[in-house]
Amino acid sequence: MIDTLEIIADEVRKCLLCRLCESRKNAVPGEGSKSAKIMFIGEAPGRNEDEQGRPFVGAAGKLLTEALEGAGLSRNEVFITNVVKCRPPNNRVPTDQERASCRPYLERQIKLINPKIICILGRTAFESLLGGGSITSNRGKLIEYEKRFYFLTVHPAAVIYNPQLKSLFSKDMVNLVDLLKKLESKKGSLEEYL
Ligand code: URA
Repeated sequence: MIDTLEIIADEVRKCLLCRLCESRKNAVPGEGSKSAKIMFIGEAPGRNEDEQGRPFVGAAGKLLTEALEGAGLSRNEVFITNVVKCRPPNNRVPTDQERASCRPYLERQIKLINPKIICILGRTAFESLLGGGSITSNRGKLIEYEKRFYFLTVHPAAVIYNPQLKSLFSKDMVNLVDLLKKLESKKGSLEEYL
């Protein structure tokens, strides 16, 4: 059967697989280009996202959008989504069961978009996608895992709590775009980027 991002989004909006469906106003499937070369994955929708049904539209979203633009990317040329597509009450961290219920949607999105690099935003997505570890020692570089390239950075909400992280986050975005260019023009070994 043919799968599309629209089919996935419809399923997500009707999803009853975990109890987050009971408290959501709107599910947030994700948005952006179907042929995005970079896909951003955050934790879960917050209050603004739940109200609008769109990812990263609150304060953290503003920071992400600005950092993307600073690196020469617009929101509509990337794809932005979350590990969990419905808002956890009081923005608590999503449970393992909630992450597991939502996982097939994320995997189908990744498969369809087939991005060159997946940018992981913060701890929850890092744990869910790569098993977690130290953000400090893993951020800012290309990570190869199961035939995909990942790039880890801090969650933009962390930048709100710790403004010192802002320049690091902006630099990571510039680096990410640079890595994409290098990957696309790669000849021979990728080792120098890993
Ligand atoms: N934080 C996230 O992880 N995702 C959003 O969509 C908004 C805030």
